[in-house]
Parts: sequence; structure tokens; C-alpha cells
Amino acid sequence: MARDFLKDARDHYDVIVIGSGLAGLTSANILARAGHSVLLLEHHYQLGGMATWFKRAGGHIFDISLHGFPVGMIKSCRKYWTQEIADSIVQLKGIRFENPQFSLTTTFNREDFTKLLIEEFKITPETVTRFFDTARKMNFFDDQARTTRDLFNEFFPGRDDVVRLLMEPITYANGSTLEDPALTYGIVFSNFMSKGVFTFRGGTDHLVNQMKAEMLANGVDLRIRCLVEKIEVSPDRKVTGVVVNGRRIGCNAIVSNANVKSTILNLVGEDKFDKSYVEEVKAVRLNNSSCQVYIALKPGVGFEPCGDLLFHSEHRGFDVEAMLSRDVSSRTFSFYYPETRPGSDRHLIVSSTNANYKDWAELSEEEYQAAKQDLCDTTLDCLNQYVPGIHEKVAHVEASTPRTFEHYTRHMQGASFGTKFEGLKASKELSEQISGLYHAGSVGIIMSGWLGAVNYGVITSNEVDKYLTPAMT
Ligand SMILES: Cc1cc2nc3c(=O)[nH]c(=O)nc-3n(C[C@H](O)[C@H](O)[C@H](O)COP(=O)(O)OP(=O)(O)OC[C@H]3O[C@@H](n4cnc5c(N)ncnc54)[C@H](O)[C@@H]3O)c2cc1C
Repeated sequence: MARDFLKDARDHYDVIVIGSGLAGLTSANILARAGHSVLLLEHHYQLGGMATWFKRAGGHIFDISLHGFPVGMIKSCRKYWTQEIADSIVQLKGIRFENPQFSLTTTFNREDFTKLLIEEFKITPETVTRFFDTARKMNFFDDQARTTRDLFNEFFPGRDDVVRLLMEPITYANGSTLEDPALTYGIVFSNFMSKGVFTFRGGTDHLVNQMKAEMLANGVDLRIRCLVEKIEVSPDRKVTGVVVNGRRIGCNAIVSNANVKSTILNLVGEDKFDKSYVEEVKAVRLNNSSCQVYIALKPGVGFEPCGDLLFHSEHRGFDVEAMLSRDVSSRTFSFYYPETRPGSDRHLIVSSTNANYKDWAELSEEEYQAAKQDLCDTTLDCLNQYVPGIHEKVAHVEASTPRTFEHYTRHMQGASFGTKFEGLKASKELSEQISGLYHAGSVGIIMSGWLGAVNYGVITSNEVDKYLTPAMT
């Protein structure tokens, strides 16, 4: 008989959280801490969403999205998770760029970037200061018509080398382009520039297991391998429950951490919303997806330190189409040294490239396997210039593609970073359409990434708490 992953689950909860990405986990934890009964449902066999890991024979553990996040993560983890989690966050100091226009290593903060822009790129100190101040002041209420391209044209006209330095890591971190609103760039860039790039020592498995322990201590009912098939809504447009693994479970409120478009169009269904809202949701653009190559070195075999994050490109200038192309010319390497997982003797490397879903979706199985093999081979060849002899040192290599992300996270088109900016409005207005229905998860570029997802989980759980509290008194 098939195992019942909902065994002993109650028939009703105050809140059901659909999905265990960082926003879903954070919402579940805060709501349970506030005294609500919370059921968290995750379709995958592991928690974390994109913030997850996998193991391979030989003791290799690969992190999927643990590359770097801004310092704000320390405060968010301390306030909404635990001091212990916050204490494991450490800075990455070796951020490297290697491309036909420049070769440099930086700590990726305002002080170092100011120095680089003035001394290496010969920008006047006054322009640099004005640029940083302008970016820092940007916020959600700014003019959305001004694009990131407009911003760079104003400060650095004709300087594609400067645009590359300022934009390449942000495109990698959230999929944004020069055509996205400047405010999305300003907010994310300034978050990084305040102190640099940070990571979680101990690996994603350690982080998510600590989060799991905290949620269990706070009373969250955690269920994996539980696919929500439907969100149930009453005729007067209130959430009443979900159908999960074929079983109905009732609730007063829902936080969906699933992709915002699939929450609205698939889990609820268009007929439950105002027509104009559905049109808006349909017009929301998904963000791009990614490919990764996971490379484990033989036990005890290492390489000379060569940075933590390396933005490699063979392309001149900043070109988003080239960054997304299957004809890869840009790769970001994350180097994981044994210190990443104290006690380990392993060196690992993950190569990431942004990718278009359509380039991978239509391949036959044979073409798909060949394309993955080619990605592994060309990545190793490229890596050889930074880790000489990599072909002999390697113990395990495999690739993931937009199809992999779609399969494991159920994001439409394997979107790695949710939606473009307009998705934020659709997400925020969800509860105005259906009482008790909320969304927390990657949308609008600024609510994406580890910090954006955690912070959006906080914002949404506060809304849900306000909604539920009168009903509890
Ligand atoms: C390759 C890659 C590299 C990245 N690198 C970085 C980085 O260096 N720094 C950074 O800050 N961010 C990075 N990110 C982005 C970051 O990982 C994500 O923005 C963030 O983790 C997303 O969290 P989320 O809460 O939006 O949920 P997601 O991670 O999208 O999780 C959603 C969850 O919902 C579940 N779900 C969906 N539908 C259902 C359903 N019907 N029933 C049950 N469960 C369901 C999914 O299985 C999934 O677990 C990277 C992402 C990728 C793909």
C-alpha cells in the first residue's frame, strides 16, 4: 500500500502554507510562533525549494543556490529564525571577474567598488558618489518607467565595461536585465554594496535542518511529498481549504509559496477572480531559468584558492541574450572549499548560467542528454584555466537545466527567480480578490533571492496574522 504522507494530519488548521521555499518556511515559522496552527505542505521529498541540496554516491553534497546573499540576511535570520542560524552567516571576500575587458578581484562592497571605479575605470569620484547615493535612495515608490539602462546611460554613457561590472552579478543573482525598472536594480545592488556578499557556513542542508528543528519546536506540522492539487474557495470568495494528495484539509488562511501565476491560474482557477485581475496575471512575465554543472573533486584533492565567486565571460560588453544562450559564453563559478562544511575534505565547484526554458523544453530525450553532456564537457574545459588539471581531479559531474528546476520546484518554465516586476502587484493583491489567500515567494525581482524570499515571507505572515487575529478573539 502507498505510504500516507498525511497520516495523523488534522482536518483543519488556522493556516496552510503551500511550499517550503525560504518564503514559505519563514511564513510558517512566524505564524506558528504567533500561536496559529500551521500545516506546511511540500511536494518534493526535501524542504527548501531552490534553497536545497542533493547528495551523490561517494559522499558528495551539492548546494543548488548557496552562492551569495546580502548582509541583511543576518538580521532577518536572527529576528525570524534563531541566533544560531544568524551566527553561521559569513562573508565571501573573493569575488572575481574574468572577461575580455577586465580581470579583477573585489570584496564587492561600496568602498572597494568606489576605489575600482575611480582608479581602474577612471570615473570621477563625484560621479561615483552620486551613482551610489542615487541607487541607495531608490525604493518601491520610485518611477517605474525609468529602466536600469536609463540609469547607466545617465551616469556612465558609452561605458559597457562599467555596465558589465555593475550589472553582471545582479543579472546572475536575480535574472534582471537593462530593461527592468531601475528601482529593482538600485534596491538589490545597494543591498549587496552595503557590506558585500555573504554565505551560510555548514551548507544548505545544515541551514534547512536547523530551520526544520525550529519549526517543529514551534509546532508546525511539516509534510513532504504532499502535492497541493487545488485551493478551495467558497462562493463568497474566502479560502476554505486545499486538496492535497487527494485529501481535503480545511483552513482559515493559505500562504502559497508556489509560483504566483500557477497559484492563481492553476491551483485556484481563473473563474474565482475578477476578469481584469486575471488579465493582469496572465500578462505577468516569468523570469528566466538556469543551468548548472555540479563538479565534485576526488576526496582530499583540492586546488589553489581561486576566489569564491568567479564571473567568467568570453563575450565583450554586457549582453543578456548571450548570457541566456545555449551557446554558453558566460559562466559563474562558485568554489566551495572544505571550510564551507567544517570537517569535510571536499572541494566542489558549481557552474551556473542563466538560461531560456524554451531552448531546453523542446529537445528530444536523446538531444537533451547530449546537450547536458556537452554542457558538462565545455564547462570542465573552461574551468581548466582556473583549476589546472581539473579533468584528472574530478570525481563526479552532472548538469541541471530549466527542465530540472521545473520538475523539482514546479515553477512554470523552471523560472529561477519568479517573475518580473509586475508580478509583485499581482502577488500583493491576491488577498483583495480572495479573503484569506496570500502569496509569499519570488516575485518582482526585489522579492527574489534568499534575502528577498525570507523578507517577503515576513511581510506576508504579518498580513496573515492580522487577518487571523480577530477570528481568534
Ligand atoms: C541556480 C540558482 C542559483 C541561485 N543563486 C542564488 C544566490 O546565489 N543568492 C540568492 O540570494 N538567491 C539565489 N537564487 C534564488 C533563490 O534561491 C530563490 O529566489 C529563493 O530560494 C526562492 O525562494 P521562494 O520562497 O520563492 O521559493 P522556491 O524556492 O521557489 O520554492 C517554492 C516551493 O514550493 C513548492 N511547491 C510548488 N507548488 C507546490 C504544490 N502545488 N504543492 C506543494 N508544494 C509546492 C516547490 O516544490 C518549492 O519547494 C538562485 C536560484 C537558482 C535556481
